[in-house]
Amino acid sequence: MTDYTRLTAAEIAEALAAGDTTSAEVTQAHLDRIGAVDGDLHAFLAVDAEGALAQAEAADEARAAGAASSPLAGVPIAVKDNIVTKGLETTAASRVLEGWIPPYDAHVVERLRAARLPILGKTNLDEFAMGASTEMSGYGPTRNPWDLERVPGGSGGGSAAAVSAYEAPIALGTDTGGSIRQPASFTGTVGMKPTYGAVSRYGAIAMGSSLDQIGPASRTVLDSALLQDVIGGHDRRDQTSMPDEWESFADAARAGREPGAIKGLRVGIPRQIAEGDAYDENVSALFRRNIELLQELGAEVTWIDTKTFDYAVAAYYLLMPAEVSSNLARYDSVRYGVRVTPEDGTANVERVMRATRAEALGPEVKRRIVLGTYALSSGYFDAYYGSAQKVRTLVQRDFEEAFAQADVLFTPSALSGAKRFGELTEPKDMYTSDLTNIPANLAGVPAISIPGGLVDGLPVGMQFMAAARGDAQLYKASAALEQALEAEWGAPFTAKAPELKESNR
Ligand code: GLN
Repeated sequence: MTDYTRLTAAEIAEALAAGDTTSAEVTQAHLDRIGAVDGDLHAFLAVDAEGALAQAEAADEARAAGAASSPLAGVPIAVKDNIVTKGLETTAASRVLEGWIPPYDAHVVERLRAARLPILGKTNLDEFAMGASTEMSGYGPTRNPWDLERVPGGSGGGSAAAVSAYEAPIALGTDTGGSIRQPASFTGTVGMKPTYGAVSRYGAIAMGSSLDQIGPASRTVLDSALLQDVIGGHDRRDQTSMPDEWESFADAARAGREPGAIKGLRVGIPRQIAEGDAYDENVSALFRRNIELLQELGAEVTWIDTKTFDYAVAAYYLLMPAEVSSNLARYDSVRYGVRVTPEDGTANVERVMRATRAEALGPEVKRRIVLGTYALSSGYFDAYYGSAQKVRTLVQRDFEEAFAQADVLFTPSALSGAKRFGELTEPKDMYTSDLTNIPANLAGVPAISIPGGLVDGLPVGMQFMAAARGDAQLYKASAALEQALEAEWGAPFTAKAPELKESNR
């Protein structure tokens, strides 16, 4: 009997179209898998078995009536818990939102429902997506399916672990400073941060609004492309949403597997974030092997200087907290979630607000609110926020110059394989680990991470970046490399993911 949890989203879609199975059966198989392994992993904050099965049955009925409604109709999905879902608790992994049932769906969730993808549940993250390991979750961390003693990365560790452990074929994440790509790297999966404005942020709980972007997580490039085809496109409720002039990403991913697909492609290596002491040397060796594979596929590889990328992390950790300090002011105990009464019972508005925020927000969130408020305060504004904005402009210029010389840029996705618990909780360790990911967010350009091989038995991702609106180009280039890597590591690469023993819960 087919184990439907082992199929990719594209394969499930094919089986559904052929009438070999039903969405209800496939969805039940994933719910069973979650039941068997999520006690170990804690990838999910909430599982909606009843809702998912009802949506699956509706998808089956629509198909029987001749209306499949999208290529992914009937394929179940997991959603990161900082994306709001009507009627389904949404906390962004913060205690301050415990018990909050949103009265509306995010734009991307509306798209999922219209395309009839059953929603399995909500996945864990660092509180309000601030972190690099899910250890900052207000509800306990997620474990990495490759090694339960290690973190799955963050902030979207729940979505990445769920996809890696076959609990869901695809998932949604958000990426403000690498939160889709770094967990993909740590779990041997694919993660895509689309161009800023390619996917509506309406209903994504805001962190750093000028950086935040929703995107897909999956086990193959094609599956991410299929998912972006569903969730992408214009939405008038997000003022940064771009007009609808997108090609089919699935077609681009399929084209990447044609012979000669990336012959002559100009691949630039941005020296400042692609090599150096910060890297585990085995990651650097694997990166060089991946460069060789690109050359064997006919790509022309050149090294490029992007000097201002050295300052990207410092600029991000002023700009992002500044935006956080403004965005998180809404958690005031009046409009959403929990309300804490001061211990001595004297309750005026200010004291209740203070007690609620003191008790229900975690230490990393508070640190960023304080840092951001300081960076924006009069007397310091120019020195901190103003300088960081200038760096952001310079990083954007470096990208422009790089894309005059290269079609895509290529780097490792992370400095090392998955870290152990406690290794990414100190601010300096946590922040500097974002080195490879942050420039793309500062410039709003698309970036994808695909598994590039194993280092000491753990997966490490490789990252492609393209100019704004170059999403299709990324799907094509990464699908070409993915195919070469399957030949190198055994196809498909992700089948190497170690079996989680269902019995060792
Ligand atoms: N590590 C980044 C941070 O802590 C990730 C943020 C994100 O992409 N949500 O800010």
